[in-house]
Amino acid sequence: MFLARSKVMLRSSIMSRSENILSAESAMKFAQRLLAVLALLVVSCTLLRAQRSGDLRVFVIDVEGGQSTLFVTPDHHSLLIDTGWPGNNGRDADRIVAAAKKAGLTRIDFVLLTHYHVDHTGGVPQLVDRIPVGTFIDHGPLREPGDKPTLDAYDAYQKVLATGKYKHILAKPGMMLPIPGLTAEVLTADGNFLDKPLPGAGQPNPFCQQSEHRPADQTENARSVGTLLTWGKVRILDLGDLTWDKEMDFLCPNNRIGHVDILIVSHHGWNQSSSPALVDAITPRIAVMDNGATKGGSKPTVATLRKIPGLEALWQLHYSEEAGPDNVPEKFIANLQGPDTGYGLELTVSPGGSFSVTNARTQATADYAAH
Ligand SMILES: [Zn+2]
Repeated sequence: MFLARSKVMLRSSIMSRSENILSAESAMKFAQRLLAVLALLVVSCTLLRAQRSGDLRVFVIDVEGGQSTLFVTPDHHSLLIDTGWPGNNGRDADRIVAAAKKAGLTRIDFVLLTHYHVDHTGGVPQLVDRIPVGTFIDHGPLREPGDKPTLDAYDAYQKVLATGKYKHILAKPGMMLPIPGLTAEVLTADGNFLDKPLPGAGQPNPFCQQSEHRPADQTENARSVGTLLTWGKVRILDLGDLTWDKEMDFLCPNNRIGHVDILIVSHHGWNQSSSPALVDAITPRIAVMDNGATKGGSKPTVATLRKIPGLEALWQLHYSEEAGPDNVPEKFIANLQGPDTGYGLELTVSPGGSFSVTNARTQATADYAAH
């Protein structure tokens, strides 16, 4: 009985060994099939994403209180608004190139210079040393030649243009920039602005009365090239460093812009811009402020921005030392107090009207549904 049972056991152990071998073979086949299916899935997901990605990507690059914002279409056409500072071993140009590479670019099609202050135009020579550029866009002659750093930045830019390697566009209000797939209309340039309201806009602006009148700014700031970018249902406004007096000239008594979804806050959030006549009237869903730790991000401006009716979030490139307790919560700040970390904010904008903001420091993404 014992023997018989042990024979049976022996047999079954032989059988189970061969079954094991069999099942190892089929497991291998199964794994191979699974891998093939997974590979197919990855390919089709990538294709799907490529098709679905009618998304515009916007990189708000940290240039320490200057401006540099890169817009990239799904077909890899690109617009860079401003180039940050010169010097610092090409720090700002390096950050721009890193964003461009992340977006899959090997060149930047258009570089728009809002004005010739050094925190906007200063980075041009270092940028063109690092990445090919197609066309420069600007407001025309320098209007503040008495300011040495500005004159130096302008001269260095003129030298780059004089190489003859680049196309050049002189921006005028009402002009549509020829960026394939991206609607980009110039609203302001060289102190002039659209004389007619944009379609659907032009209503009386109730916020003019709440905005104090200020003397005309005589610097390059007032000459800023301001642009409205439209991506499907989403409108993005960037007025460079346009000053308070010009905002009121442009938007009072009637709001010639209408509603925008995303506001790139003018002038790094400095108190010389962001009148209620502008920021309250255009009712942005989010505002993105390209301030430095000690440049821009003025206390009263941060307070004004945070009170915009209907604003869903203010994002800051840096904690503002001046704004102190008025700073937004940390999750909305790319760079906290302390040494320079160079984190940016990355926006993904869907033509259907939804968009998201990713904070490069936290890697967290906030989604804003289409309205
Ligand atoms: Zn500036």
